[in-house]
Amino acid sequence: MKAPDFQYQCPRTLNDALVQLSSDDVECQPLAGGQSLMPMMNLRLAQPEMLLDLNNIAELSFIREAGSHIEIGAMVRYATLLESKLIHHHIPLFVQALPHIAHAAIRNRGTIGGSVALADPAAEMPALLKALDATIEVVSKSSTRTISADDFFLGTYETALRSDELVHSIKVPVAISEHRYGFYELARRHGDYALAGVAIGAHSVEPYTNLRIVFFSISDCAVRAVEAEDALNGKLSNDSTALGNALETLSKLNYYEDANASSATKNHLARVVMQRALSKLSTAVS
Ligand SMILES: Cc1cc2nc3c(=O)[nH]c(=O)nc-3n(C[C@H](O)[C@H](O)[C@H](O)COP(=O)(O)OP(=O)(O)OC[C@H]3O[C@@H](n4cnc5c(N)ncnc54)[C@H](O)[C@@H]3O)c2cc1C
Repeated sequence: MKAPDFQYQCPRTLNDALVQLSSDDVECQPLAGGQSLMPMMNLRLAQPEMLLDLNNIAELSFIREAGSHIEIGAMVRYATLLESKLIHHHIPLFVQALPHIAHAAIRNRGTIGGSVALADPAAEMPALLKALDATIEVVSKSSTRTISADDFFLGTYETALRSDELVHSIKVPVAISEHRYGFYELARRHGDYALAGVAIGAHSVEPYTNLRIVFFSISDCAVRAVEAEDALNGKLSNDSTALGNALETLSKLNYYEDANASSATKNHLARVVMQRALSKLSTAVS
């Protein structure tokens, strides 16, 4: 199927894009890498009157160091993240996880801002950002807001973003040498959406401190397993009782069912991926 007719604008500045987005004249939708939006339009699941193409806005394409954070512009593509020395040095969890996001052709076009704005419950990026305690900066013509990843993702394809706002950038705390990270996903084929996956950040291991355990593709959005974190924080990694307690808490998460797995299977897979990711938490800085 082909997309329905739409108007098209391709502004060169962020300000021009925000002015267009705030206009009441026409209902417009931002276009980033188009890897999700174009198929949705072709299937008539999205029918925007106007596409607002962000691809020529240089102000949204940057990766920079800002004190204890790395700032990433919304239009940075997955492939660019994977090639970035700053990302390799400061955000090791991205390096572990990004090769699992789709296939190379999609990573060449898909953007971090597009994934954040879409909030697909099966996507890796929302879980990574929650595990990293990242923040998301959103802008409109008249305001700028900084929202924690914990508060940004509200449900399936639902975020705290308002219709006149764009995702501007993502701010991720830099890793330090004591920090540990883990990532594990189960998919039918490498590059497919995961059946279940988990991203983990910890300020230390032996004992675990400040664990953030975040699942994706099991619930209506990336979900933190706070009770599992509580069961493990302060415990050593070889404490099998603590691990058993943490695994038990996973049965209380709100699992959904999809075409590939029942909610009971998702619960089982969550236990598997958490154990595997915890067993190989790796060092922060390579
Ligand atoms: C075959 C296939 C396999 C895939 N597998 C995976 C996978 O395993 N894991 C995964 O995470 N993803 C996967 N994807 C999705 C892919 O990662 C998308 O690229 C991503 O979800 C959206 O990024 P995009 O830049 O293409 O956004 P687009 O498709 O351009 O936009 C997505 C949505 O975000 C909005 N938007 C975009 N940018 C902004 C912004 N700056 N501010 C506000 N709103 C904005 C758009 O209006 C739209 O609603 C797959 C896609 C395909 C086609």
